[in-house]
Amino acid sequence: MKEKIHLLDENTINRIAAGEVIERPLSIVKELVENAIDAGSDAITIEIKGGGSDLVRVTDNGSGIPHDEVRKAFLSHATSKIERAEDLFAIKSLGFRGEALSSIASVCQVELITKTKDEMTAIRYRVDGGEEVSFEEIGAPDGTTFVARNLFFHTPARRKFLRTAITEAGYITEFAEHLAICYPEISVKYVVNGSNRLVTTGNGNRIENIYKVFGRETAENILTVKAEGPHIRLLGYAAKPIVVKNNRDHEIFFVNGHEINDRILERAVEEAYRPYLMQHKFPFVILILDMDPSLLDINVHPRKSEVRFVEKTVLFEFIRKAVSEALSQTELINRAEEDEGKKEKYVSPASAPEPFETKRRDAIAYEESESIFETVKEEAEYIPVQQSFDMKVMRPENRPYFRLVGQVFDTYWIIEYRDRMYIVDQHAAHEKVMYERFVKEFKDRQVVSQYLNPALIVTLDGRQEVTLKKYMEAFNSMGFEIEHFEGAEYALRAVPSGFMQLENREIFEGLIDELSEETDTTDVSVIHDRLATMSCKAAVKGNTRLSTGEADELLTQLLSLENPYNCPHGRPTMIEYTQRDLEKRFKRIV
Ligand code: ADP
Ligand code: MG
Repeated sequence: MKEKIHLLDENTINRIAAGEVIERPLSIVKELVENAIDAGSDAITIEIKGGGSDLVRVTDNGSGIPHDEVRKAFLSHATSKIERAEDLFAIKSLGFRGEALSSIASVCQVELITKTKDEMTAIRYRVDGGEEVSFEEIGAPDGTTFVARNLFFHTPARRKFLRTAITEAGYITEFAEHLAICYPEISVKYVVNGSNRLVTTGNGNRIENIYKVFGRETAENILTVKAEGPHIRLLGYAAKPIVVKNNRDHEIFFVNGHEINDRILERAVEEAYRPYLMQHKFPFVILILDMDPSLLDINVHPRKSEVRFVEKTVLFEFIRKAVSEALSQTELINRAEEDEGKKEKYVSPASAPEPFETKRRDAIAYEESESIFETVKEEAEYIPVQQSFDMKVMRPENRPYFRLVGQVFDTYWIIEYRDRMYIVDQHAAHEKVMYERFVKEFKDRQVVSQYLNPALIVTLDGRQEVTLKKYMEAFNSMGFEIEHFEGAEYALRAVPSGFMQLENREIFEGLIDELSEETDTTDVSVIHDRLATMSCKAAVKGNTRLSTGEADELLTQLLSLENPYNCPHGRPTMIEYTQRDLEKRFKRIV
């Protein structure tokens, strides 16, 4: 049962994060949609024109506002969602400040039509720049329609600060798309300048919405991440690392229904992906977190786009581990699959949704509204079915079933495993094995130094010397022993065992040079990245003939790795053909 709308007391008001609530058209859309969700709606239509500054209309089928509370809803700090200051630490709704409607009404021309189930009629209420224009009873279906026209109409200076309509619309589009993904049980319809941009069924199938928004390639390569802690639940959608992004735009986080930006979550995710992605590449990840509201402060940003977590370190590790496990448990191998094969994985979706507004056609009519009342027949689309969550094939237990067939071009090994064939790049594979071994030893603090006799003398320029000093401690912990010799000369007395090639002067200097590019401190992740470089330098090259025995051993080691599929730089170590792939190529089957 919905509480009555009331004014918050002074004490509570003072504790609410202050700041501009309505910054741009997106802010209006966001606040209205949050209200619609809080009102229990399962169908929400968002319509915008002119990037949202000409018109925003949000229609929902939620609880509605009773007649006698409509005016109150527009007062500053009027809310039905919290009572007192303590409630700020146990917020279960998206809204809580009671500021949105009053803020929106003060910066544009507002029209509200709202009807509760229990009342016979709806109320149509109009406010211009905070001044009431009309209040009348009309007929309308249950739920609420909120129209905001001409944003900043009486403050042209502020209107100037808005970006172009296309840019502003872009922000809203992204919001609508993410909304559809966070709330698959809500049927979302998003209309831009009269044409449908996105329509979801509300059938609860999140992958289907990911497919609609991000396309087939992404949806097809999504792994589900699930984890639960005492007061937290994570549901995540992490794309296999073959889906690569150039920035963080596709690291999407929802916490208790709010989409937020957060460095901790970003870092945890990137840490989990690090073994699989090249440097400066970013993953596609959607994380949906539900946590006890007491572990979270959502009241830190006026537009609720940031939160403060109470237990940062625990959260970081919880996320990192969950994503990392999902990535390592699934086959991340590069499939040498042909496009034709892919269609089999799709089935037709459930029938297209019936926009609920059609029911309203007779009830309300506006000048602009014809277009959204049209029933839209969606084209039948293909959606991905259940992903192939097959057990990891590359496991030590499966070793007896792997058969080394032979080598081609002095570089690639052909391996058969049941109905699959792998082509392994010996250089990439060796690199990976070395890398993992070293990282493990480093973590377990088992690094053994190997002494060079005689010591290797290297001459470092000023910048290299600064870098060496900065990372000296890290170098030592990695098994190096480096001493100042004289002038600009340093003596390399020991290197980590297994990395004998590092006694090669150029390699060592190269390593120092790469490190000096980093502005960061002696962060472990920097060292790890450099380890990768080192192991690559030390790894056996293509075109070096390995004996069958050596290749056999390499395969065994590869199978023991958590992620045998990518070299430390993210390149694949192997590609896979199934028997079926070959049969298709030879046209034995179609
Ligand atoms: P808040 O969401 O922080 O409570 P708002 O200014 O956004 O503040 O809304 C004020 C009140 O108006 C809400 O608490 C709610 O009771 C009511 N309200 C607003 N929008 C809707 C809606 N779409 N459906 C039902 N009630 C609504
Ligand atoms: Mg609100």
